[in-house]
Amino acid sequence: MKKDTLLTHGGRDPERFDGMVNPPVYRGSTVLFENMAALERASQDRFEAFRYGRYGTPNTVALEEALAAVEGGYRAVLAPGGLAAITFALTALLEAGDHILVADAVYGPTRRFCDHQLKAMGVRTTYYDPTIGAGIEASWQPETRLVFCESPGSNTFEVQDIPAIAEVAHRHGALVVADNTWATPLGIDAFGLGIDVSIHAATKYIGGHSDLMLGTVSAAEPLWRRIRGHVADWGVCVSPDDCYLALRGLRTLSVRLDRHEVSGLRVARFLEGHPRVARVIHPALPSHPQHALWKRDFKRACGLFAIELATSDQAAVDRFIDALGLFGLGYSWGGYESLALPADPARIRTATRYRAAGKLVRLHIGLEDPDDLIADLAQGLDAMGGG
Ligand SMILES: *Cc1c(COP(=O)(O)O)cnc(C)c1O
Repeated sequence: MKKDTLLTHGGRDPERFDGMVNPPVYRGSTVLFENMAALERASQDRFEAFRYGRYGTPNTVALEEALAAVEGGYRAVLAPGGLAAITFALTALLEAGDHILVADAVYGPTRRFCDHQLKAMGVRTTYYDPTIGAGIEASWQPETRLVFCESPGSNTFEVQDIPAIAEVAHRHGALVVADNTWATPLGIDAFGLGIDVSIHAATKYIGGHSDLMLGTVSAAEPLWRRIRGHVADWGVCVSPDDCYLALRGLRTLSVRLDRHEVSGLRVARFLEGHPRVARVIHPALPSHPQHALWKRDFKRACGLFAIELATSDQAAVDRFIDALGLFGLGYSWGGYESLALPADPARIRTATRYRAAGKLVRLHIGLEDPDDLIADLAQGLDAMGGG
């Protein structure tokens, strides 16, 4: 079956719920057993039968199965946010003495976790140029156990050659873990590209409505068990309401993404022709330096990209953003609404020098009419002042 069909039918079992299309929200801690034999049976595996609220509810399982249906992998591990999905996957797979390679364009809080918490655990991190591809082998150390990718990179959108990196990693017996939030489960074939553990901040497009925090980790069964067990050992669980909302969001992910992609490209092309925009950084535009890689590995784009304004004057950037009427100023993305956020990638890099043509602003193109968004950006760019 095709992905849109799996999105609609995965993780559904109406017969269990009196015919209701969606599973009701199961609020529960205690699960009662009919007798000792039933308790014993349920106690054999924490994750196969419902035993206690912490280990999951029908809402957890429905979401885990729906995600596995579209992404592959054996179920999914849920975490209370995208960052938690990343930190639990990493801590499940690493131990003191290990070394990891992390893309220099990685999401800022992921870098912070590596620099502080992993370091305190005795795990060393080396950052690598996200455009390095097979050249990553030069950074290899005897203790390198894992490569962490994020493609396209946060704010700067470098597309990584994941198959080339995976070939090197697997030859050295290391794992490839990737933050695929931008791609969503529909945008790439994560396991086909050689990724072993695929992570999403479901807070973004999967939820899609800016009303929940959730993260997902997908992997084949042995890795799934390791990560799922680790999350349970730490006592972490996700609320049934958030699972319900994420599953509801997942059902419409494909149609929303279609619109985000089309509108995003339309707005990006307008900005590419504007004199106050020095550069548009969008992997699906031919002007993107790794556009060919993107075309090879990605099935679709989303509505998130960046622009470099033709100015390095922060006051002009502030005037631009403050003049926007339809674009909200705030963190996150992937909801139905448009957002604009300034970023300073040069400040946090360590492996590479980020050379910008001007101040960078990240845009999320929501589900508004793109003509209205273009008009809003046009008046915002006029309000910047200067040349
Ligand atoms: C937002 C984001 C995260 C973190 O997700 P939260 O749900 O906010 O914890 C991780 N990776 C990327 C690429 C993100 O954009």
